[in-house]
Formats: sequence, structure tokens, C-alpha cells
Amino acid sequence: MKVLLIAALFAGMASVALAEYPEKPVTVVVPFAAGGPTDKVARDLGEVLRQKLGQPVVIENVGGAGGTLGAAKVAKASPDGYTLLLHHIGMATSPALYRKLPFDTLNDFEYLGLINEVPMTLIARPKLPATTFNELMKWIKANKGQINLANAGLGAASHLCGLLFQQKVNVDMTTVPYKGTGPAMNDLLGGQVDIMCDQTTNTTAQIEAGKVRAYAVTTTKRLSTPALAKLPTLDESGLKGFNVSIWHGLYAPKGTPKAVVDRLNAAIRAALMDPELIKRQEALGAVIVTDARLSPAEHKKFVAAEISKWGPAIKAAGQYAD
Ligand code: ASP
Repeated sequence: MKVLLIAALFAGMASVALAEYPEKPVTVVVPFAAGGPTDKVARDLGEVLRQKLGQPVVIENVGGAGGTLGAAKVAKASPDGYTLLLHHIGMATSPALYRKLPFDTLNDFEYLGLINEVPMTLIARPKLPATTFNELMKWIKANKGQINLANAGLGAASHLCGLLFQQKVNVDMTTVPYKGTGPAMNDLLGGQVDIMCDQTTNTTAQIEAGKVRAYAVTTTKRLSTPALAKLPTLDESGLKGFNVSIWHGLYAPKGTPKAVVDRLNAAIRAALMDPELIKRQEALGAVIVTDARLSPAEHKKFVAAEISKWGPAIKAAGQYAD
């Protein structure tokens, strides 16, 4: 009887504790610099998540090493639902890029759900002489050995896209790594670097304002977003088979209680139905996820499949870090 009473008391306390989650601000770590594409997604989503969770959502930018520093920080954080990670395709490419990744992608996180898919664009500094893709190809051939390609470090989407681009055009460029493509964009606008492949969530406004050269999109279909609809695909421009689309998802440290994971997943699903969020993301070329990958189990399965998909291509390119 006594044992039962104590057990009931503990069960009651546990459900009260979980029922109260979240009872303080939730931090979302963005593993790239502020002002970049992943940061934009996090701030957009964070604003709606705040309403759904009833607590402030604080964005913390932990840039560096292509997103792996921020991911490592969350992998080691307390599994209480108050430190989350918003990360992209780098979750799936970094296992092949880093010999000693400081976390285990599939085993050190609770998967909370996929958020969006984002195409990329090939852009250049505003005064680069080439205005079309064909002119760019000629310019690249004429300037071999002197071309700077900006990216957000080994493991970033801009790195993956730039790597595939260099392979396809068979020209090696000097890569200039930043803590995110937010700061990289500033240098591109200032003419300090030549070329970048970056997500539309960061490039659409600059393309629309005519502040950068824009040559093509990285998906196999043209985009419908007005500012981007005129851009050809890299595939139709001659780089047959070029197809890169970035996705973002949310993660918690392994061991986060199931009730907290469920609460977060429900909040994410509700947030992703917000018409304003959908509109804002679409205007930047991004597509909100509405399929089964919204569930933690399917999100994890998808990342596992992406690891298998990208690993061989990356290893073939022979790029990795210790
Ligand atoms: N997502 C990175 C950022 O937010 C850029 C990248 O992955 O290329 O800066």
C-alpha cells in the first residue's frame, strides 16, 4: 500500500514536471553566424514556436567548423528540452567530411521533426564581368587559379554545393570559409570574394534588389518564387544531373524525455501550419515540410538515408577534415 502510494506520488510529480514544460525560455542553437540562411529559418520559426510553447525562444548562434561546433554543443547539453539544435543537411554530410566528428549524428540526438527544404542559387559579386551562366563558364576558364569561392566551412551547404560545382566544371577554386554565409554575403557584396552557392533564404532579397549576379538554381526544376523564377537550373545550363536541395530539422540532446519530445513535435507541427510563416518562407524560395518526415522517427530515417546518399560523393571528392 505504502509502496503504491509512493509510486503514485512520483508518477504524479513526473507528470506535473512534464506538464509544465516549458517553464522557462527555450534556446535554439543555430550552428552558423547570425544573419545567414539557417539563422533566418530559426528566427522565423522561433517567433511562431514562442506562441505555441508559451515561452520565449532564444536563438544562439554558435558558428564555426561548418556547423559541427554548434551541433556538438547541443549533443552535450542537458537533455531537458531547453537547449535545441536547428541544423541542415550538414547533419548528413559531416559524418563523411570529418574523420573525428565530436558527436554521433544518429545516436546523440532526439529527432524532433523536419522543417523545410531550401533550394540554392549560384551567385557572384556584383561587378563580376559575366552576367549569364555561359559567360560565367568562360570567365571561370579564363581565370583558373585566381577564383575565390566563399562558403560557410566544411560541412556547410555552401561547401557541398561549391564542391559539386567545382567537380562538374572541373576547375579548382580557392575556398574562403566563413562562420556562416551571412558574413560571406557581406564580403561578396563588397567584392572581396567572387562566387558563392547559397540558400535562397539568404540570396533572394539580394537577387531581387540586383545587388549580386545570379546565374542559376541548384534544383532540377525552376522555382516559382517571383524573384527567382527567371533563373535557369544548373542542370538545364549544361551541368547535367546537378541537384542540391537543403533541408532543416530540429534536434534535442539524446535522453530528452519522450513527453518533452512529443510536446516539441506538436509545437513544431502547429508552427509549420502558421499561414504567415508559410508565406514568409515561400517568398524566400523555401518549402515547409508537410509529409511524414514531420515525425521524429521519419525525420531520423530520412537523415540516415541522406548520410548514405552523400557519403560516397563526398568521399569520392576526397575532402575531409581531421
Ligand atoms: N547554413 C549556413 C548559414 O546559415 C550556410 C551554409 O550552410 O552554407 O550560414
